[in-house]
Amino acid sequence: MTSTGTALSTTGAGTSSATSETKAPSAAFPFLDLRAQYLTIRDEIAQATAGVFENQHFILGEEVRLFENEVAAFLGAKHAIGCASGSDALVLALMACGVGPGDEVITSAFTFVATAGAIARVGAMPVFADVDPLTFNIDPDQVKAAITSKTRAIMPVHLFGLPADVDPLCGLAKENELRIIEDAAQAIGAGYHGRTVGTIGDFGCFSFFPSKNLGGAGDGGMVATNSDEMADQLRMLRVHGSNKKYHHQILGMNSRLDALQAAVLRVKLRYLPSWTKARQERADIYRALFEQADSSRRITVPETPESSVHVYNQFVISCPERDALREHLTQRGIPTEIYYPVPLHLQPAFAYLGYRADRLPRTEAACKEVLALPIYPELTEAQQAMVVREILNFELP
Ligand SMILES: *Cc1c(COP(=O)(O)O)cnc(C)c1O
Repeated sequence: MTSTGTALSTTGAGTSSATSETKAPSAAFPFLDLRAQYLTIRDEIAQATAGVFENQHFILGEEVRLFENEVAAFLGAKHAIGCASGSDALVLALMACGVGPGDEVITSAFTFVATAGAIARVGAMPVFADVDPLTFNIDPDQVKAAITSKTRAIMPVHLFGLPADVDPLCGLAKENELRIIEDAAQAIGAGYHGRTVGTIGDFGCFSFFPSKNLGGAGDGGMVATNSDEMADQLRMLRVHGSNKKYHHQILGMNSRLDALQAAVLRVKLRYLPSWTKARQERADIYRALFEQADSSRRITVPETPESSVHVYNQFVISCPERDALREHLTQRGIPTEIYYPVPLHLQPAFAYLGYRADRLPRTEAACKEVLALPIYPELTEAQQAMVVREILNFELP
């Protein structure tokens, strides 16, 4: 799901947190198997990338334009603007609506670092609101309490592929003249009250990091918007603030989608609906397997609100004895991951904001209790049964 900054291989099983002296046995299967997916589309990828080498147009161009149109159609957005990464998509959206020094942007601390990092990168101040303990998404009441005269935008994250409760946020935005920038990096194709996430607020930001539901062969990102004016701004901002070569209207950056990435992603976009369905089916299988289990084991399985369509970039359970459970699973060859072990307000990089422990109790509890189980289209039912069996074999200490 996430780029970790250092571990840029996305196919390996979890290798972090060696909590015991003895070396953990290797996983029985990968936490995420991107190679298995690649093998199903190998010829199409080869053909698509060869086309780019033949025409030698590597930056933006026709391939990117076609991919942008296809994503816009897929989302039901008026515009989709490709850029270099999901992180840059967030920065570009903030720049397009003029957020900068002196401004505050309210977001979640239970997310990948890039969400709040983007706010800090444009010189604004991230303000963290606590999450709803059931969905792990930002709680609109907590957002409301955090609004000040300096607030310029709200940045909800559709964490793990589950839509945040955006309607109340849109109400707050209207009352207080704020922008909504959706961090939809983990949630391409997810649905909220009949709409697609990333098209509800002013901007929807997507990532094509390899382990996202629509993953490229490297970094890539996109901003969706229904505003013609914002789309023009974004198109200038990603090419040094220019709308005519060597004429610069505004200060921008270099953040473009490569044609090679677009070629790969165009192939994969065609499969995204079937891959998403496969993820949802695997989530249903996990749920059914857990339902047969004894509820006294204090394992909480995610639930999806009625009006939402979850796309399961991750399937995340929680357990108060999470670390012991994870160690038990690792010893039995079951790969798991922790998204996220440290909330953003307690990260050294954000120490300057002055948050202390206990400020966001639900976020902090989530960081101690969550455990992501393997979920991807190629995961087999036998593997899922093995995961759940070993979880149920775990004796509470
Ligand atoms: C992956 C991710 C990003 C950043 O995307 P990159 O393409 O890796 O820059 C931002 N926010 C969230 C929630 C993410 O999961």
